[in-house]
Amino acid sequence: MTSLDLDIMYVKGVGPVRAKLLSDELGVHSLRDLLYLPPLRYIDRSRFYDVGELTEDMPMVQVRGRFVSFSEEGEGARRRLTAAFTDGQRVMQVIWFKGLTRIKENYQTGVEYVLLGKPTFYRGTPQLAHPEIEKYDPQKPPQGLRGVYSLTETLRRRSFTSATIPRIVTAALERVTDIPDSLPSEIVERHHLMPLDRALRVIHCPMDARELADARFRMKFEELFYLQLHILSQARTRGAALLGQRFTKIGNYFNGFYNNVLPFELTGAQKRVIREIRADMNTGRQMNRLLQGDVGSGKTMVAFLCMLIAADNDAQAAIMAPTEILATQHYETISAWAEKIGLKVRLLTGSTRTAARREIDEELAAGEINILIGTHALLEEHVQFRNLGMVVIDEQHRFGVAQRARLWHKAGIAPHVLVMTATPIPRTLAMTVYGDLDVSVIDELPPGRKPITTLLRYDEARASVYSGLGRELAAGRQAYIVYPLISENEKIDLRSLQEGYEAICRIFPGVKVGYVHGRMKPAEKDHQMQLFATGETRILVATTVIEVGVNVPNASVMIIENAERFGLSQLHQLRGRVGRGTDRSYCILMTKEKNSALTRRRLEVMTSTTDGFILSEADMKLRGPGDMEGTMQSGIPFTLQHASLTTDGQIMSLARQAASDILDSPDWVVKDNPTPTITLLRVELLRRYPSPIRWGRIS
Ligand code: ADP
Ligand code: MG
Repeated sequence: MTSLDLDIMYVKGVGPVRAKLLSDELGVHSLRDLLYLPPLRYIDRSRFYDVGELTEDMPMVQVRGRFVSFSEEGEGARRRLTAAFTDGQRVMQVIWFKGLTRIKENYQTGVEYVLLGKPTFYRGTPQLAHPEIEKYDPQKPPQGLRGVYSLTETLRRRSFTSATIPRIVTAALERVTDIPDSLPSEIVERHHLMPLDRALRVIHCPMDARELADARFRMKFEELFYLQLHILSQARTRGAALLGQRFTKIGNYFNGFYNNVLPFELTGAQKRVIREIRADMNTGRQMNRLLQGDVGSGKTMVAFLCMLIAADNDAQAAIMAPTEILATQHYETISAWAEKIGLKVRLLTGSTRTAARREIDEELAAGEINILIGTHALLEEHVQFRNLGMVVIDEQHRFGVAQRARLWHKAGIAPHVLVMTATPIPRTLAMTVYGDLDVSVIDELPPGRKPITTLLRYDEARASVYSGLGRELAAGRQAYIVYPLISENEKIDLRSLQEGYEAICRIFPGVKVGYVHGRMKPAEKDHQMQLFATGETRILVATTVIEVGVNVPNASVMIIENAERFGLSQLHQLRGRVGRGTDRSYCILMTKEKNSALTRRRLEVMTSTTDGFILSEADMKLRGPGDMEGTMQSGIPFTLQHASLTTDGQIMSLARQAASDILDSPDWVVKDNPTPTITLLRVELLRRYPSPIRWGRIS
């Protein structure tokens, strides 16, 4: 117990009622909780502003001066008190809607006060509503910065003002004595960290921006250090515990295919990644690996070659895709390859007939099927393998955690797992979000790809966009036109899918146009996709159902309507549907003229690069990691108070290294008689992470 563990109730000015409020509304129970609460922003109390300097976009400011007059206006609910206040040069207005009597009693004209508030303007005159007011005290030293904390509606209703939490924090800081630092002194010294005791004081009321930056660095480092210590120690425990099959051999399947069938030279990145995976499947521990690779980077071939390693070691492999279309495409690609080396591949989806399903079940159990490809249908009870050694999961964010966990039970010994994703995630985020997954990255596209030209076009330019489309069609190419959603309800400026479809049919009367959206029956959807894949239909008008994985190399145009409604990663996925053949391709972002600055920037980033990693970094910077979380279904299973996954990647790397060093140190391993330093670390780690983080992963 340190003084940090003291109940917040015992702090001066709190008591049981406010303590309950703080705990219900802000999760603040102890002094520690309060002092670790980071201010949202700071107000500058180091100077007084002149009335003449005030502008609308200023945050809270201090003005020093005197009230000239008070007057009450309005009736009943609209009653208000206004005062003229002057800094000696100009006059501003101060206004109150509540507590009028108390205000009139407490403040007088002629006395010098300091007002603190957010300036607004009414008919050109600056105003402060309900400012904090203090008597001016010339003895009091300048106060530097002061934290502003987020308040809930309830707290406001229960008379918490912007000054309440700062007052409680000050009282709390008087109460705590000598806060011990749980970080080892080597780490504190090596990274020039501000000691905890000081940082907790500074973070709430720093003298200046520099001091604040040091305190913040300390708090972020500490937070990320414990996060990484937890993640890494979990990973090590797990790694030691979970047995995996050892794939020691590279045999005839792999070599035969590699030497005689492989239709192209692998890229350097593909080779490197295959080496990583191969080594990982031969350690005796179970592989849990994320394979990141931009759309079109050739993940399928990597997965296939790795499944051949499984086959060489007498194990079966499965590949699971999020949609029937994708599973079918994988099946077509992979069975064509596998056939040449005598491997048996089967497809199992929701629409596989009962008789065929029975046959698959039997052949699986007998070990005759080498590779099973499918959708969620693979998870069903009746699907039993003889020896499942490896599972590939494509586009993992489409699968729920529980579903993946079910695959797990299909093998006696944990199968190796390769999760493939084309959602490029910045490395710092991947490292953290995927916890203990190892990450392999294909950071190189196969050669000979023609670039995709991305253009931003407004409605006025529609005619010229269509004539460009006409030229591509005349040259034998195909095109996608994508709409954000079916606009039955959203009538206003959203061109609906139906209207778009009809318009396109009118404009290109001789051309067969397909039509697909998410509310169609799966069979109808597949039929439409198939017509497009075989070239029967030349234009596909669609919603985002085509987003994931579909491969039609002859398609060279992607027109995205209302592009402003899509996120960057979604736009990137859509764009990845073209540029798969050897012809130059086009991605046209149709949008309206009036977009917010943020949206404009987002669309401009799209036109400036086709690199998914650059895009995802930009996306994180523009919108914060929230959007990234959204794309990863499982979300991020922990919260950070001080650090940001978006902007603190560098601190994260430092903290991760420091945590890893600790885990490697002989002191950490000693269980019975640890050093005081290690004991402190363990106690703090357990306090922060009493139970394991629930990652969205198989196990
Ligand atoms: P993704 O990573 O998006 O799943 P795919 O595996 O579908 O990409 O590969 C896209 C296309 O590139 C496929 O037609 C595939 O056969 C081809 N491809 C993959 N690797 C290479 C390579 N090294 N050289 C040439 N083409 C390749
Ligand atoms: Mg793919």
